[in-house]
Amino acid sequence: MPTFVHTEKCDGCRGAEVSACMSICPNDLMKLDTGRMKAFNQEPEQCWECQCCVKACPQQAIEVRACQDVVPMGGACIPLRTDNAIMWTIKFRDGEVKRFKFPVRTTAVGSIDPYGHKPLAGNLDDQLFFTEVGKTLPTPA
Ligand code: SF4
Ligand code: SF4
Repeated sequence: MPTFVHTEKCDGCRGAEVSACMSICPNDLMKLDTGRMKAFNQEPEQCWECQCCVKACPQQAIEVRACQDVVPMGGACIPLRTDNAIMWTIKFRDGEVKRFKFPVRTTAVGSIDPYGHKPLAGNLDDQLFFTEVGKTLPTPA
């Protein structure tokens, strides 16, 4: 089931130019009603339930209804992602709420060199990968 927004929790990302859910949705589905400062999914049938917006919402205002086998009606299972951890809020059918927090990284944010200290080849027409600088392609027989 596509995302829906608990409007009582959504604060419109406090007037930020682009809300967290809008900036992260890979399908540009989340939209902010600037009059009400509430977000909504403008094209629910296009939502592939990737949960990116759910994890990014600082208010835990977005929900994707999971299948009944996983989350029975009346319950909820909502992730919140920060730089260093992911927290799952589990709401049971009787109203009990439990939270579980797990670390998601062992290195400092921004410390990873995406090129692994490899030089950039700089030639986009070359059929070699950029890590294969100095190699030559085999000549076809
Ligand atoms: Fe509202 Fe959450 Fe979207 Fe921010 S990220 S606009 S709080 S639903
Ligand atoms: Fe977009 Fe994924 Fe959120 Fe659906 S679940 S609205 S596709 S970010």
